[in-house]
Amino acid sequence: MLIGVPKEIKVHEYRVGLTPSGVRELVAAGHSVLVQSQAGLGVGFTDEHYLQAGASIAANAAEVFERAQMICKVKEPQPVECRMLRPGQVLFTYLHLAPDPDQTRLLVDSGAIAIAYETVTDDKGGLPLLAPMSEVAGRMAIQAGAHALEKAQGGRGVLLGGVPGVAPARVVVLGGGVVGLNAARMAMGVGADVTILDKSLPRLKEIDMLFEGRIKTLMSNTANIEEMVRDADMVIGAVLIPGAAAPKLVTRKMLGRMKPGAVLVDVAIDQGGCFETSRPTTHQEPTYVVDGIVHYCVANMPGGVARTSTMALTNATLPFALELANKGWARALLENPHLMNGLNVCAGKVTYAAVASALGYPY
Ligand code: NAD
Repeated sequence: MLIGVPKEIKVHEYRVGLTPSGVRELVAAGHSVLVQSQAGLGVGFTDEHYLQAGASIAANAAEVFERAQMICKVKEPQPVECRMLRPGQVLFTYLHLAPDPDQTRLLVDSGAIAIAYETVTDDKGGLPLLAPMSEVAGRMAIQAGAHALEKAQGGRGVLLGGVPGVAPARVVVLGGGVVGLNAARMAMGVGADVTILDKSLPRLKEIDMLFEGRIKTLMSNTANIEEMVRDADMVIGAVLIPGAAAPKLVTRKMLGRMKPGAVLVDVAIDQGGCFETSRPTTHQEPTYVVDGIVHYCVANMPGGVARTSTMALTNATLPFALELANKGWARALLENPHLMNGLNVCAGKVTYAAVASALGYPY
């Protein structure tokens, strides 16, 4: 199969759909890969790297879309890209269609086979192509929060790990899923005093076993949240209720009782945020202050560490891309129900229930 990798065109998107190592695996399996010139330059992968991995280089996106049987991307296709798709062509990328009627209409009209990273599943009921970005965001939350805690950023001037003779910072993580666990691990690694709150008792038990007590666990309820947030130097918002807006666990009133200069990092901002005072920010201007509390609410955190994110993404997507290329999309989907769950639009029809019902398509 001929697999195409166009350069991402969304503003400030430096990630790329396949790394040179990913290309090498596809080529070794007998496929051809066509990469748009400079597609990986933003994350340090040059055309030369892709050529060495066995790819060919296309001068522009039009050539990639025209020749490839499957397009591997990162972000949802922009209108100009949707219009280059053709019937029967496979698009494998993040789509997030439910809140995006325009993109959905364009994909339906294209006749292409659109498989969304975010709805591919695994045997444990997880979302294996969403997890790597949650891992990145969770780990990054601590380094972003640590920076925000510095005086020059409006923070209270606290070092996460403390030093001998000085107590470490208190880090409170709301939500012990993929983001929360990765944030907690990082915070623990630099010596902070870490507590995770989750409303799932089985999850809290798992975390307790995993960290052998080095991370404290608490049931997520209003009393515990109020108490922990009041004493925290840094609070990480990492809750998720699938398919719903994030619950507002920290109210504006609670900010008044917090230590001045404490930091809130709302990773759940892409689902509306779990702090009442959160609003989305960008990597260019990541923080703002409300009632003396520093807020970091960047909606696309993985974009800030685009090279790591690109490699993490290819690690996760490649086995599925190989399966699609080896078997052809129809057989690959029929034989792998997890990949089938990724199918959102197929030859002019919306094929994912939640998207169809959100946007009024027949299903
Ligand atoms: P996950 O499903 O792995 O974990 C969510 C956890 O929240 C679960 O353990 C669940 O039990 C817990 N939870 C639900 N309601 C709760 C409550 N009231 N109190 C405490 N815990 C509660 O999800 P995840 O992959 O860790 O993602 C978390 C959030 O981070 C999502 O909103 C996701 O979209 C977002 N995210 C944002 C970025 C970004 O760049 N900002 C990147 C990746 C993920």
